Amino acid sequence: MELPFAESYKIKMVESLKRSTRQQREQWIKEAGYNLFNLKSDYVFIDLLTDSGTGAMSDKQWAAMMEGDESYAGARSYYNLKESIKNITGFDYFLPTHQGRAAENVLFSSLVKEGDILPGNSHFDTTKGHIEFRRAVAIDCTIDEAKDTTLEMPFKGNMDLGKLENVLKQYPAEKIPCIVLTITNNTAGGQPVSMENIKGVAALAKRYGIKLLFDSARFAENAYFIKTREEGYAGKSIPEICREMFSHADFMTMSSKKDAIVNMGGFIAFREEAAWQACQMYNIMYEGFITYGGMSGRDMSALAQGLIEGTDFDYLETRISQVAYLASKLDEYGIPYQRPAGGHAIFVDAKKILTRVPKEQFVAQTLGIELYIEGGVRGVEIGTLLADRDPVTRENRYPSLELLRLAIPRRVYTNNHMDYIAAALKNVFDRRESITSGYLIKKELPIMRHFTVELEKA
Ligand SMILES: *Cc1c(COP(=O)(O)O)cnc(C)c1O
Repeated sequence: MELPFAESYKIKMVESLKRSTRQQREQWIKEAGYNLFNLKSDYVFIDLLTDSGTGAMSDKQWAAMMEGDESYAGARSYYNLKESIKNITGFDYFLPTHQGRAAENVLFSSLVKEGDILPGNSHFDTTKGHIEFRRAVAIDCTIDEAKDTTLEMPFKGNMDLGKLENVLKQYPAEKIPCIVLTITNNTAGGQPVSMENIKGVAALAKRYGIKLLFDSARFAENAYFIKTREEGYAGKSIPEICREMFSHADFMTMSSKKDAIVNMGGFIAFREEAAWQACQMYNIMYEGFITYGGMSGRDMSALAQGLIEGTDFDYLETRISQVAYLASKLDEYGIPYQRPAGGHAIFVDAKKILTRVPKEQFVAQTLGIELYIEGGVRGVEIGTLLADRDPVTRENRYPSLELLRLAIPRRVYTNNHMDYIAAALKNVFDRRESITSGYLIKKELPIMRHFTVELEKA
């Protein structure tokens, strides 16, 4: 008999989950203004709001925390982290920051000025925020296929090289501080970028004399997909693939809360000393001295170890198989989602499920509320609420997709939890025809409204 797949770790410490009744959940979500962000986490049974900072650290990471060196300057923990980053990325220079957006803030303070153009493959929202805040422009050059949720493609996060070259042709090089390649492509559904595409982007960058930045939050998951999907990489190790990926970049920003499996942290790494030096002043102003930048010594030590574990093949296989396992359950029940399943999350296609809810009543949000009421499972809306209003007309912007993202925290839940999530979603799916109305806005902020919005039943 062939042995079944099993997790590559065992559990040493557990945290209780709180069960609740449907009646309680109906009351709690109403009190939360039908906003999943407003729920106390104690009111949630399985929390799939995000995979950011929600992972479980290992025994070795906790041990590393005990050995953290809290010296203000030149801490041992800093040098541990430097070595870990060098081994995995090949970059000689780095600056610690408190999380990914802080890395963007520091790097872009040195790099981006008003009127600049930064082409990329679906810039992450904080990345775009830091670009637009500086009155620069983020141009999306993702392949068109990423918008079709039914299309099966191995590397659906790729940059469209034609679109990219058009941008590079159109603007002078001094207006383009860098190209931003996000690996994996979070916004397109945790979809990977192939090595071939990375090489293509790097070749264009070189030809036009433009720097290449990797937004690297999920670089290890990207490497896993290259190893398992791209020709010529099956025999290479994950760290080898990572070094090859990063060999094409000039610098990287990292949210360590994702693939480095820590609860807080980030960094910027650089190939050239001069770029590192140019950022030091901003790091000191915004984050902290260049050898701690917003992180405790113990947190840098845990991160150094997390980078090693996050690039371990057996760990990655466990993680990505779990997401694929949930996807296989949805396939069994006929529930539509962005295909193929991504590295960190399933993006359920709400528009295809709740066909009777008008778009003005927040289709994906309605599905998220129903899933919470059904089973205490919290996902997050990637749809009209998130898309905000048009800054000029103040009308709602209706994105082409209404998605409910179910992000899977790392090393936290078991496949029994995946069964539970799928069953709860199936129950909602089975009664989808009876869901005919959604929600209306009672109160909202002018931007980033999804975090704090209050809704009422339509
Ligand atoms: C999470 C994330 C960021 C921002 O990082 P934070 O740690 O949340 O500040 C940037 N880019 C990508 C692709 C991300 O997933």
